[in-house]
Parts: sequence; C-alpha cells; structure tokens
Amino acid sequence: MNTDLTPTIQRQARKADLTSIYDFSRVDLEAWCAARAYPAYRARQIWGWLYRQRVGSYDEMTNLPGALRELLAAELSILPLEPVRELWTDVDETLKLLYRARDGQLIETVLMFYPDRATVCISCQVGCAVGCSFCATGMGGLQRNLTTGEMVYQVVDMARRAEARGRPLTNLVMMGMGEPFHNYAATMRFVGILNDHDGFDFGARRITISTSGIVPFIDRLADEPYQVNLAVSIHAASDELRSSLVPINDRWPVADLIAAVRRYIAKTHRRVSFEYALMTGVNSSDEHALELAGRLRGLLCHVNVIPYNPTPGAPYERPTREGVERFVSVLTDAGIPATIRYSRGLDITAACGQLRADQIAAGAS
Ligand code: SF4
Repeated sequence: MNTDLTPTIQRQARKADLTSIYDFSRVDLEAWCAARAYPAYRARQIWGWLYRQRVGSYDEMTNLPGALRELLAAELSILPLEPVRELWTDVDETLKLLYRARDGQLIETVLMFYPDRATVCISCQVGCAVGCSFCATGMGGLQRNLTTGEMVYQVVDMARRAEARGRPLTNLVMMGMGEPFHNYAATMRFVGILNDHDGFDFGARRITISTSGIVPFIDRLADEPYQVNLAVSIHAASDELRSSLVPINDRWPVADLIAAVRRYIAKTHRRVSFEYALMTGVNSSDEHALELAGRLRGLLCHVNVIPYNPTPGAPYERPTREGVERFVSVLTDAGIPATIRYSRGLDITAACGQLRADQIAAGAS
C-alpha cells in the first residue's frame, strides 16, 4: 500500500478549513457525487478505496476519472490529522501517535498489540471538561470536540499501521482524550461509519465506549441500534471519594450511576465493564474493594483494576503489585469478576494526555 501522501498534502495544504471526506457517511458521499452529476457507483468506489483498501491519497484511487480525483482533492480533505510524533516500544508492543489537526490542535492515539488482537485507543475531544483530578488531559480543560472525521481517521490510520506490521486491527476503545458522551452525536456517527458493512465493517461488538458516568447518555446508548460495549470509569464506590476524583459525581452520584447501568443491562443484556484506577492510600484498601463489591453485586459486570500511572501535577501514587493483586482478590472473593489491566507504553510517556502535554510544553505545537 502506498502511504506517500505528499501530492495530496501539497494540493490541500492551504485549506485548513476543508471538510474531511471521513466526516461523510456512505449516503453523504452518494449525495455529494449526485450533486456533481457522478453516478452512485462512483461513491461506492470511493467508499471502497477509503475503507477497504484504506488508501492515503486520492491519487491512489486509480479507477476514478482524473477530474473526479481533482474535485475530491479540492473540496474534501483526505488528511484531517497529520502525525507529528510517533513512539514505539517493543516492551509491550505499543505505538503512540501524536496527531496535529488542521487547526493545529494536538491529540493522542494508541495502538496496542496482544497475542490474539490489536486494539486502537482513540481520542474524541481535544482536552476534556470532566476534570478528573488524576488525569493529565482533564487538567487542561476542554479545547474542542473532535469531528467525526477526526475520530474515523485515527482508526483508519492505525488500521494501516497495524496491517503494515502484519497484524489486523481487531478492537477499538474510546478511552483516550475526552468524554465520548460530551461529543455524543459525532461519536454515534463515527460508530455508524466504521460499522458500515460495505466499508470498514468494524463490528460494533468490538467497539467499547467509555464514560466517566454521564447518566442520561447511558440511557440513550441503550436505545441505539449498535451493539457496542459500555465501560464506566467508577474509581470509587462512595460519593465523597468519587466526587474528589471524578467531579461530575456531584451531578450524578454513584447510586444514580449504578441505577443507569442496571437499566442499560436490563435493556441490552450486555455486560458492562467498570474501570477502577487504583491509587495507593486513596481508593486501594480492602474496605474500598468491599464497598465496591456491595455496589456492583447482582450486576452483569466486570471490573478492570488499573494500577495508576503517576501523572505530573497529580498527588497520587502507583500501588505495588501485591496491593493490586490483593484488591482484585477481595473483589473476586466477594463474587465480583475482576482482573488487572496494566497500562501500555509506560516507557514511552506514561499517562494519557502526557505526550500532548510534553509537546505543548516543548513549544512544538
Ligand atoms: S479521565 Fe477521561 S473523563 Fe476524566 S478528565 Fe481524563 S479524559 Fe476526561
């Protein structure tokens, strides 16, 4: 696959405000073609080049007329994000990408290889308004929502990179920068584009949407046609502690959050994951584990216990391996399925949002 994007970049470089072709659904693309007197099969060809061949430039769409390729390049960006920094570690086979959007904003995307799968973790916002006290992304506040096209492009580009290593992309998690439910419409559109059977055909069951607990959207997600997975970042079972870690808990306290998850499970019959960032001396005692078990008892759920990665500016510490194992065993002994999930790429910038923060601090944005 030719990944030389130079001709397209040169033609499009001066147009920072171009709509991206990755914002388009298949129906939008058909309408765009029809409005320019091109038949529907041209839209199908373009869709195939974008999502089946996953080419990086219009010049590679060799069965299109030259005039159509010129028109596409003039009106629709095929490069909504430009990679500016790429870090790879052999330690746990993880690739971190820092992308620059056309307005100069920086976002992070991570590709993680496992023996049986390859998972991309994408961002859905530049920054985040939730402001979790342990999170590098939250500390800077929200800059803006990402467009659907900027989200889709992260997946397409990482799929290319995974395939270049001979490992097809199999899973997608929305656990990077941002709160997906604060960018709900774009997120649903993103899922629809990736899920399109004539295009990428990314199975909804292999997509996980993670939320900090925006209750009304948990109910809304339960009504969507896509069978995506839901992950809820809980981090604490008491309101006092959770509010100090995840401020939106003041608006939607733990009991309301659990009730929404209960409704979601009743409607979808799908298991929900709870994410729990374990921090020494904060939420890591046996009592914390037992309190969490009490909250989750009877739910079709699983807890991912994530040893916290120290973040500059946040006063929290990483637990010992024994501490993590003990927390998990207290949960499982209490009947709650739980496993440890180690973060990837610790030797190439630890926490989510830190690569971007480092780049901004270095004055490179
Ligand atoms: S942990 Fe997630 S929800 Fe919380 S501030 Fe960071 S990006 Fe936002």
